[in-house]
Amino acid sequence: MNKSVYENYSDEKLKQAFDFCEGYKKFITDAKTEREAIIETIKIAENNGFVNLATIIANNKKLKPGDRIYAINMDKAMIMAVIGDAPFTAGLNIIGSHIDSPRLDLKATPLYEDSELCMLDTHYYGGIKKYQWTATPLALHGVVCKKDGTKVRLSYGENEEDAVIGISDLLPHLEREKRTDVVTGEELNLLIGSIPDKDAKKDKVKANILNILKEKGIEEEDFFSAEIEVVPAGKARDFGLDKSMVMGYGQDDKVCAYPSIMALLNANTPHKTCVCLLVDKEEIGSVGATGMESMFFENTIADIISLTENYSDLTLRHCLSNSKMLSSDVTAAYDPNRPTPFNKNTDAFLGRGIAFCKYTGSRGKSGASDANPEYIAVLRKLLDDNNINYQATEMGKVEAGGGGTIAYIMAKYDMDVIDAGVPVLSMHAPWEITAKVDIYETYLCYDAFYKNI
Ligand code: MN
Ligand code: MN
Repeated sequence: MNKSVYENYSDEKLKQAFDFCEGYKKFITDAKTEREAIIETIKIAENNGFVNLATIIANNKKLKPGDRIYAINMDKAMIMAVIGDAPFTAGLNIIGSHIDSPRLDLKATPLYEDSELCMLDTHYYGGIKKYQWTATPLALHGVVCKKDGTKVRLSYGENEEDAVIGISDLLPHLEREKRTDVVTGEELNLLIGSIPDKDAKKDKVKANILNILKEKGIEEEDFFSAEIEVVPAGKARDFGLDKSMVMGYGQDDKVCAYPSIMALLNANTPHKTCVCLLVDKEEIGSVGATGMESMFFENTIADIISLTENYSDLTLRHCLSNSKMLSSDVTAAYDPNRPTPFNKNTDAFLGRGIAFCKYTGSRGKSGASDANPEYIAVLRKLLDDNNINYQATEMGKVEAGGGGTIAYIMAKYDMDVIDAGVPVLSMHAPWEITAKVDIYETYLCYDAFYKNI
């Protein structure tokens, strides 16, 4: 515990870690938004024998041990499960992560012209350092829902033939008077065009952009019923001269989601039913129909029980309270460039394996879900028996700040839950950094958890 993974890594195991991260880099490149994460995960699930729960219900089929199913909530949250041979009252083995990431969202009436430039107005989503999103190439990802019921999927800025868009920043020469806020939310406006439509009567540059959008089937008023997210343009890349790390967008929390998806694929007729939970809206407090606070999780487990054995409300309650969960979310890695908010003795380091956080919150553990030591002891045995490299962590100094995850929401069911995930450098920045060995150790931990808890 708390030592470098490389102390006990063979060349062969390091190669396995690097190979695993090839799939991971592709996943986060293709899945920059929650909707794209669902699309990519469905592909993985269906290629590995998982069947849509809605199809099973529609065909009046039943479930039995070994069956693999998935359920989708509004294209933005998802549950995958492999049915175990134990009764549901034994509880579930759950690994839950979130697939939303900090970004800029387009407003409902975003398009305007200013000083012969066409702009898009945004409202940022989640905790960002606003200055990091200026003067960098950005892309648009999302859906436009038309009044006729059709949906136009949009991805612009990723392919070579696409242009990128972005937010301009002031030159240093004209910013002698330093502002404390650096960039404000209302200043995060995307520049998307500068050629006028000569035939237009007013706002000629905006009119030209509207012509271009029309070719893609989008009218100005369609933005009202659209969900368009502005994310960094480009692929996830190897990072470092030794290629030991990954730099990519949205690693919080897809760096935990991907290993949990891949680990579940290895579960073949487990004892307890194994569940992989992928939720939306964690970055804004887990609220809303697709966040962890939604009834989707509970309703889906009720469906799964009723399709497998005799359903009763009490079975569901006992099932949930007897469940064990890893709330799989990232933690802050110690940053040698910015050491002030960290405590070197108690925080996570890149390259020391999966990080377990007994409690989040800050300043007297406010808002924390504090994991029980009885449960942690069970996990310690699992980790040591399976030679997993792991570390204990807090999230920075006691009074430095802190963060939240979905752990406390699952703890409401009276189940054992602890945060466990990959340490991240530059968390919530457009490009986040992780270590490949930490990602692989997290996968190995999740695999052991599904098979043995
Ligand atoms: Mn997170
Ligand atoms: Mn986050």
